[in-house]
Amino acid sequence: LRSPYHGGHLEVIVGPMFSGKSEELIRRVTRAVIARQRVAVFKPAIDDRYHATHVASHSGRSVEAHAVRSSEEVRQLLRGETPLLSGEVELPDVVGFDEAQFFDAGLVPLALELAHAGVRVVMAGLDLDFRGEPFGVMPDLLARAESVEKLTAVCVECGAPATRTQRLIAGRPARYDDAVVLVGAQESYEARCRVHHAVTR
Ligand code: ADP
Repeated sequence: LRSPYHGGHLEVIVGPMFSGKSEELIRRVTRAVIARQRVAVFKPAIDDRYHATHVASHSGRSVEAHAVRSSEEVRQLLRGETPLLSGEVELPDVVGFDEAQFFDAGLVPLALELAHAGVRVVMAGLDLDFRGEPFGVMPDLLARAESVEKLTAVCVECGAPATRTQRLIAGRPARYDDAVVLVGAQESYEARCRVHHAVTR
């Protein structure tokens, strides 16, 4: 059960929505728990899909997680300034992050510091936003990771491997310059391949 990288390292899991990133993060974390490793999982507080203190996949599996507002809050929790792991100051063996694309730029130095300190860091997040552009901190994390897994979903239009997330507003492809968060808008997301991914210019 030792890491193939001889110590701390960074693993990144990416792909579009519905590609199973949360499922894969849950799978890796659950195996670590079975091996009696100490695990802490974090997710941004903005994603309250299904449960505020769990990472949940679209298929219903879940694992306990701390909802945080910033990478600094993760630092504080790991330093033991707030009760986590019953006040232990020792770092966990494994630290997981879901929806990593929504974290601030401080996530990159934090991931590197943890990896240097011997922690196995597992990040799951969207590599591309709805426009098909690199998403936030993800390119930086992908470049620095020891291991990268790109997952695909199933294109809802043709059944091919889907690498993109289609954003629909009132059933129509979103505009390139639409705000990332649209308050009160009738929006939805679908997995699509490159051919069927559409952005209104
Ligand atoms: P992600 O974290 O990448 O959004 P999840 O792990 O939450 O993905 O969910 C993956 C699950 O979503 C799949 O196992 C499947 O049950 C479901 N799903 C819904 N739509 C699709 C699709 N178009 N392609 C693949 N899986 C889908």
